[in-house]
Amino acid sequence: MRLVTFEQEGTTRIGALRSDDEVVPFAGPPYTMAELVAAGTAGLEAAAAQLAEAPGIALADVRLLAPIRPRNNVMCIGKNYVEHASEFAGSGFDASQKQAVPEHPIVFTKALSSIIAPGEPMDVSADSTGTSDYEGELAVVVGRGGRGIAAADAFDHVFGYTVVNDMTVRELQRRHVQFFLGKSAATYCPMGPAIVTRDEVPDVTALWVRTTVNGEERQAAPVEDLIFDIPTLISTISASVLLEPGDVIATGTPAGVGIGFTPPRYVRPGDVVSVTIDGLGTLTNPAV
Ligand code: MG
Repeated sequence: MRLVTFEQEGTTRIGALRSDDEVVPFAGPPYTMAELVAAGTAGLEAAAAQLAEAPGIALADVRLLAPIRPRNNVMCIGKNYVEHASEFAGSGFDASQKQAVPEHPIVFTKALSSIIAPGEPMDVSADSTGTSDYEGELAVVVGRGGRGIAAADAFDHVFGYTVVNDMTVRELQRRHVQFFLGKSAATYCPMGPAIVTRDEVPDVTALWVRTTVNGEERQAAPVEDLIFDIPTLISTISASVLLEPGDVIATGTPAGVGIGFTPPRYVRPGDVVSVTIDGLGTLTNPAV
């Protein structure tokens, strides 16, 4: 299923896409995506039954929102594609460690208040440093939570997948020698358009992440290129953090971010950034 959260006549609802232009609203409970994820298999079965039988409405008549609001900060992985690690190390903005390719996953978080919907403007004009950058990423939505999850069991804890643009203020990332401020600016976590359930993605490593700015391709790489794969990320994070249903883990960005160019090609007001992942959809947000 391609699950969505949307606003219809002032009410926030969840549902599933029946086609690219029709959405089937679910009668609750559950009323939110977080509740649906927490309901586990029973929730998915109820959703599938409604998708099969309930009447749909035109997607054009609703406004898509970010598919989920997690309980915890959005978790992210830094430098998880070899070529991106190299371009970042060469940029002089590296606030993490000396070697280009990390020995262990670099994990940081984005504030929940940075999450915005597909199509919603990214407020780069508020960045006084003028160093806002895009990062197209595959994100994992955690289903069953847990601590100490073995890599071999990791996919049993995956509810589905979505698309995230891990927008970043590079100068804040450098200046404060950490990731949180530079990654958490308001509007800097576009997410969506949908959560595609795990059963519809038989081989997540075969998916490609592609990012365009104003129609020009900047990033294109297969998820297969991840340095630390999804089982490694889930086992590493859950070794200390209690993962909860609905948590979102953005898995890292491929080469081709703005800081990788000489001179850097940062996001300016008027730019339009689109991140496409096969089967998951396209996440497009204008910068203002
Ligand atoms: Mg990132």
